[in-house]
Amino acid sequence: MKVVVVGGGLLGLLSARALSREGAKVTVVEQGDFGQESSWAGGGILSPLYPWNYSKAVNDLAAWSQRYYPELIEQLILESGVDPEWTPSGMLVLEDDQDQITKATTWANQRDMNYIEWDPQALAEHESEIGGEHRGLLFPEIAQVRNPRLLKSVLESCKRTGVELLANHPVTELIHNEGQISGIRSNQTFYEADVVVVCAGAWTAKIMAMLEQDIQIRPVRGQMIMYRTEVGQIKRITLMDDHYVIPRRDGRVLVGSTMEETEFDKSTTEQARKQLSDFAEGLYPCLQKVEIERHWAGLRPASPDGIPYICSVPQYEGLFLNAGHFRNGVVLAHASVQLLLDLIGKRPLTFDPEPYQLDRS
Ligand SMILES: Cc1cc2nc3c(=O)[nH]c(=O)nc-3n(C[C@H](O)[C@H](O)[C@H](O)COP(=O)(O)OP(=O)(O)OC[C@H]3O[C@@H](n4cnc5c(N)ncnc54)[C@H](O)[C@@H]3O)c2cc1C
Repeated sequence: MKVVVVGGGLLGLLSARALSREGAKVTVVEQGDFGQESSWAGGGILSPLYPWNYSKAVNDLAAWSQRYYPELIEQLILESGVDPEWTPSGMLVLEDDQDQITKATTWANQRDMNYIEWDPQALAEHESEIGGEHRGLLFPEIAQVRNPRLLKSVLESCKRTGVELLANHPVTELIHNEGQISGIRSNQTFYEADVVVVCAGAWTAKIMAMLEQDIQIRPVRGQMIMYRTEVGQIKRITLMDDHYVIPRRDGRVLVGSTMEETEFDKSTTEQARKQLSDFAEGLYPCLQKVEIERHWAGLRPASPDGIPYICSVPQYEGLFLNAGHFRNGVVLAHASVQLLLDLIGKRPLTFDPEPYQLDRS
């Protein structure tokens, strides 16, 4: 089976790797460089931010991914020699609203998710770098990955499994023969395929418009800043007021993020830099003493309900989508690829596919 994957972000590369391991002849066609868009820009938290506010469809994929990510990471390290730094740093949610705490603990109990509740005194004892008085819920098993390294690792694994990787090839046309997909055309040439998988992130609607298909995926800009601290000074992913801090193994600390409707504009703004640094330096006063090392933005692929489309496209035999993961593309990626493989291989499905279809209710 010949497969063309459109888009070389995390979803495209992981899909390609998995399909190739199952024996398909896979080509990934990417308009720019591999892994430089949303997948590079993201934080790599392996959980939705406040999972109790998300649908079952998102949480089911997240739970499966969380369970099997360590195995995937081990395989990737062996295949590529690059360590994506899967780290179970835990996610600490600072929350003073009792209704939200009840909602969170009820959800965690239903899902058998471990958590520890800290009152302000316990929090101050465990997390002495945090400024102010807060109550907290710690989810100790939640992990993170380092996005650029994960992408490098998957890209290297794709190379070694024989995936053909074509950078600087913007796809300009999806070709079909009376509804049967037969390939794609890029700016350079035509590529024949039995199956085409569109993983074009925030650009997916543009690709599908080539077939006059109206798919609702829009870009939502997210800006992040990064500090460099001493190793271990900040220990946990920390969430407060829909913003977060993510400490990497080498002392770098990411702070995110904004949610902005700016179409395909990926520039950064002074206003966001101030908003993020005010948040971070209030939460962790130790950050007031260090410089901001980097500031960037990425475009999240947002579906209207935040649930990705992982499905076949009914009018076109051989055309599939794995796109629209919005704020959760890294955590959902592993499970999304599993569902995609099940659908393409017409084998028993790991998940109920209905919530991820184009015409879901
Ligand atoms: C600031 C920020 C923080 C985030 N934090 C997290 C987090 O902590 N945890 C989490 O799980 N998720 C997070 N996310 C979300 C996550 O990063 C995305 O959901 C995910 O990366 C989407 O991956 P993708 O492969 O679909 O898209 P992308 O990585 O954007 O890849 C799509 C690719 O398609 C290519 N393409 C587009 N058009 C064409 C064309 N015509 N021809 C060929 N190629 C084309 C693009 O160039 C691009 O490389 C965050 C996102 C942002 C922006």
